[in-house]
Amino acid sequence: MNYYSLHHKSPKVSFQEAVVRGIAPDKGLYFPEKINPLPKYFFKNIEHLSNNEIAFTLIRQFVGEEIPESTLKGIIADTLSFDFPVVEVEEDIYALELYHGPTMAFKDVGARFMARCLSYFNRNNNNEVTVLVATSGDTGGAVASGFLGVKGVNVVILYPSGKVSEVQEKQLTTLGQNIRALEVKGTFDDCQAMVKNAFLDKEITDKMQLTSANSINIARWLPQMFYFAFTYKHLKGKGKPLVFSTPSGNFGNICAGMMAQQLGLPVSHFIASTNINRVVPDYMETGAYKPVPSFQTISNAMDIGDPSNFIRIQEIYKNDFQNLKKHLSSYSFTDDETRMAMKYLYEMRNYIADPHGAVGYLGLKKYRKENPENLGVFLETAHPVKFLDVVEPVIGKKIDFPPQIESVVHKTKKATMIATYDELKSFLIR
Ligand SMILES: *Cc1c(COP(=O)(O)O)cnc(C)c1O
Repeated sequence: MNYYSLHHKSPKVSFQEAVVRGIAPDKGLYFPEKINPLPKYFFKNIEHLSNNEIAFTLIRQFVGEEIPESTLKGIIADTLSFDFPVVEVEEDIYALELYHGPTMAFKDVGARFMARCLSYFNRNNNNEVTVLVATSGDTGGAVASGFLGVKGVNVVILYPSGKVSEVQEKQLTTLGQNIRALEVKGTFDDCQAMVKNAFLDKEITDKMQLTSANSINIARWLPQMFYFAFTYKHLKGKGKPLVFSTPSGNFGNICAGMMAQQLGLPVSHFIASTNINRVVPDYMETGAYKPVPSFQTISNAMDIGDPSNFIRIQEIYKNDFQNLKKHLSSYSFTDDETRMAMKYLYEMRNYIADPHGAVGYLGLKKYRKENPENLGVFLETAHPVKFLDVVEPVIGKKIDFPPQIESVVHKTKKATMIATYDELKSFLIR
């Protein structure tokens, strides 16, 4: 499969090159040249397939022959070595729990898949790369864990000082080995801008092969299709149309769901639920896309003022706004509404949601007010323990640390403080 840049000013590249580059030389995101729908019988018979078989069928065309079949199957088995429970929360409403992986966030799937692809591409030791990644919280931990000890890959993570949770900070600053963390005096948008600059800086790129592990990387983005299909398999027997509400920040996760739909996955509607960073909800209302600086909220992994993957969603719908509107709704919620939803879910439904999942739940409820005939699934994108300081006061109860978290919270943080792009540059090439 070849990939083109959404800025249309760079040559087409192979899967490998798109993964290794992360972003095209013209700063565009890569997009697959063709999307071939899967045969109808695949979805008809999906309940007879294992999760690994489903994942392999979904991703095969996007990888092409660049990774041998048996290797790709191994990568998938490794990536998906944990559960994806679909939990009934109330009648016709389910939580898709994506937090049972090593860092307890859905980003584990993409990070693990990407790390293993890069490791395969570096199998002869001559394609050493530096993964440079900005995180608003969960990306850093998932990337650090997914890439830890992967040969030929060095990881540098930038995160906004004081704006990620304590657990998140520990997850990305305590692993050592090939993982280094930079604590940036600024916001997530500042971190992202620094990363973007580094990719365009010839003095850096002459010295090292940089790649990104943000959801702009196709190897992080595309495997997120898998669990939309697992959920369909799980709920197919109920015989009702399926809608997904995805708490969205950079819009990579929901965009992967929409790709799965392009492959033929029967989904009747998508809901992009956001906090008050409402560029997309506003766009869906007005047709005008106006990026703004991000606001800080309690669902901090979604504090993004200019979601990078939204352009891919527009590409899927060939920039046809009316058609997009038929498939996507988007709603924004305040922190107070989010806290109320968490409280309600705990007290009335005995379900502990994290702030991101709660935003997803709110979006689903809002959509279902007018469309009650569907089965609704909201994505629970992180374990509530990752947002202890928000969740515990709301539900009035202590949350126990799962083993994945227990093992990092007592480790010592190791990070280098930086404030400017020049400091990043000298860190990379000194
Ligand atoms: C990253 C993240 C999101 C947002 O996902 P996108 O793919 O960027 O839209 C939502 N919730 C949590 C917990 C996250 O870590």
